[in-house]
Amino acid sequence: MNYKDYIALVPDWPKEGIQFKDITPLMDHGPAFKSAVDDIVAYAKDKDIDVIVGPEARGFIVGCPVAYALGIGFAPVRKEGKLPREVIRVEYGLEYGKDILTMHKDAIKPGQRVLIVDDLLATGGTMDASIRLVEQLGGVVAGLAFLVELTYLDGRSKLKGYDVLTLMEY
Ligand code: 5GP
Repeated sequence: MNYKDYIALVPDWPKEGIQFKDITPLMDHGPAFKSAVDDIVAYAKDKDIDVIVGPEARGFIVGCPVAYALGIGFAPVRKEGKLPREVIRVEYGLEYGKDILTMHKDAIKPGQRVLIVDDLLATGGTMDASIRLVEQLGGVVAGLAFLVELTYLDGRSKLKGYDVLTLMEY
């Protein structure tokens, strides 16, 4: 399946000069969405994954059906102030300034094997912060999976040493 047929390219959004890759047409198309989820499930199958982790908000959309298909749990990575119980936090750099991502302290048990899933790899900052959260909790990052990779932003350079799956590249 050519997944790019289901990505809408939106010029100048959220600001001028950025071309946003909108994944909602893919989510909206049952066979394409199922096929994309199945590809990530197939990638996860031989990795002995215990838990799927995904950053808000589109990491939930892709990660939850993968967890369901594997019959394992899903643990969210969220912006500060969103999770109701005790959290660990990491700061990460944005283009201008900083942001904070958090996970519940008991979301992962030491030694658990984790697949982190998000919709898109751009600079790699979100995934790098998610990896640090999982590793602080003692999780083993066994793989990283994305629908889309923006190769021109070289996010992979932040993910050296990790196994990465992407379903399409721009
Ligand atoms: P990064 O941290 O790698 O620079 O940015 C990736 C994060 O920003 C992902 O969580 C992703 O959801 C979001 N993101 C950045 N650019 C885009 C885009 O063009 N399309 C979509 N769907 N998400 C994006």
